[in-house]
Amino acid sequence: MAQIIDLHTHSTASDGIYTPTQLLAHAKEADISILALTDHDSTDGIVEAAEAARQQGIDFIPGIEVNTDTHGGEVHVLGYFLEYERPAFQAILKVLRDARERRGQRMVELLNEQGVHVAWERVREIAQGSVGRPHVAKALLEAGYVQTIGEAFDTYIGTGCPAYVPRYKLSPEDAVRLIVSANGLPVIAHPITLPGLTELRNWLPGLRAAGLVGLETYYGPYTTQDEQALLTLANEYQLIPTGGTDFHGPGIHPTPLGGRAVPYMAVEQLKAAAAQRRGQTPPPFELPPPVAEK
Ligand SMILES: [Zn+2]
Ligand SMILES: [Zn+2]
Repeated sequence: MAQIIDLHTHSTASDGIYTPTQLLAHAKEADISILALTDHDSTDGIVEAAEAARQQGIDFIPGIEVNTDTHGGEVHVLGYFLEYERPAFQAILKVLRDARERRGQRMVELLNEQGVHVAWERVREIAQGSVGRPHVAKALLEAGYVQTIGEAFDTYIGTGCPAYVPRYKLSPEDAVRLIVSANGLPVIAHPITLPGLTELRNWLPGLRAAGLVGLETYYGPYTTQDEQALLTLANEYQLIPTGGTDFHGPGIHPTPLGGRAVPYMAVEQLKAAAAQRRGQTPPPFELPPPVAEK
């Protein structure tokens, strides 16, 4: 029987519902043998997750998912096998996280100005870790303003909606370089969902030059056709086809934890690439100045 592998998951260290320990317990129940934790702009869950994985007998890969914006839309960049304890790397993550927190606060302000009464304290309580839109959505749901999380996005906090606030801007190349600065392996997340294949093609040569090593191909709901298109692209740019479910908690994404088949080859290739990078002195990364949020 093939091993069950999930290389894209979230915990309460970003906008996931489960703590790292709970996540690993659920991974065990799902018979997962290899799991990567890839929280948004945070590696705070890694120590706990690694310990829980050891106890559950699961092979654990430290990861991250860095959110970026381009003119063509968002791009998310996963990073694997990070030397996450590097102080310069952590300092940059802190800046990004603080910006994310301010974004949540601004969304709550906008909601309040429009007579929608959601308390910032409550949003923070729900989030536990860094604040994301799902936490604001949950607060809206709790307060009875919407019937579902989806409705919160459609009505209030989705792109173009009255309480939408754009993110701190980091380019995809910035994200790739940031991950490389911690000797990590950058992989474009869910390329068909964001940014879309046409947009991605424009970015790939630059990203490859910046140190991109992979393309998330076996992603949650992607069809065989999607998978084929991504495999072709991965082949063209000599990128490792990786995969995972983007699990945030039950009911948030359609694919359950470990519910997408990921070939072991992906892990093998990532491990080989990581072994090459380990111990090298990575190029330093400098954060571009923040863009004013409208
Ligand atoms: Zn993502
Ligand atoms: Zn994700």
